[in-house]
Amino acid sequence: MPLPANSQSDALGAPLLRAQGLRKMYRDGSRTLEVLKGADFQISRGEYVSVVGKSGSGKSTFLHILGALDVATEGSISLDGEEYSSLSAKKLAKIRTRKIGFIYQFHHLLPEFSALENVILPGMIDRVPLGDLEARAEEMLTRVGLGERLQHRPSKLSGGEQQRVALARAVMNDPLLVLADEPTGDLDQQTGREVLDFILEQTVKANRSLVVVTHDPAVAERADRRYRLEDGRLAEIA
Ligand code: ADP
Ligand code: MG
Repeated sequence: MPLPANSQSDALGAPLLRAQGLRKMYRDGSRTLEVLKGADFQISRGEYVSVVGKSGSGKSTFLHILGALDVATEGSISLDGEEYSSLSAKKLAKIRTRKIGFIYQFHHLLPEFSALENVILPGMIDRVPLGDLEARAEEMLTRVGLGERLQHRPSKLSGGEQQRVALARAVMNDPLLVLADEPTGDLDQQTGREVLDFILEQTVKANRSLVVVTHDPAVAERADRRYRLEDGRLAEIA
């Protein structure tokens, strides 16, 4: 199985990502809300890890912090040997673009753009010729079964197809880690299962690591390891 090209190291056994002692506080007027209270987490290369937790337990907050879209109040995260807190904003943005892919519950596709454009636009990396990006995006969309839908706008696609476009976008830059926030939350069970099959095919089967935050027991159960987020901490489910 080829390793994703964006890897700095391929040390066997070492986790791809390790988070330790994550705390996150939000100010709510005069009160402080502590959403994460020392959460520890790790994931290895090619592993599928799920995180379940009640609504409001901090699942999205946690995922955004792992993906460097938000910053923890305390704690450390290292991805592929690089500690987030030691990186400049510019370097961190680079890691976010090149090593991490995101999938959201409501896909966040741009309504005015085609499927192909949606896959190309957010991950555009300087100095990569547009023709190459187009070829890559077309290949990714074909892999998720949308080779015949390249020019469709999101409104002309079903919910499952929209999530497959979001998947193609998430893996466009050959990330090491894919983070999915309730990716099947808006889909019926059968479509949700199909979308998860596509996600697994394009992530763990290609030796990428996958974190899925979900309400759906059927999605959580298929993971290699499972965590529950409760009272600001992550406990591994045996
Ligand atoms: P989940 O994804 O598990 O439903 P979230 O991570 O979205 O939970 O939210 C966890 C808690 O943090 C909730 O009580 C939410 O209201 C609060 N919260 C999330 N984002 C913010 C923010 N930017 N400012 C203040 N409170 C927030
Ligand atoms: Mg959420």
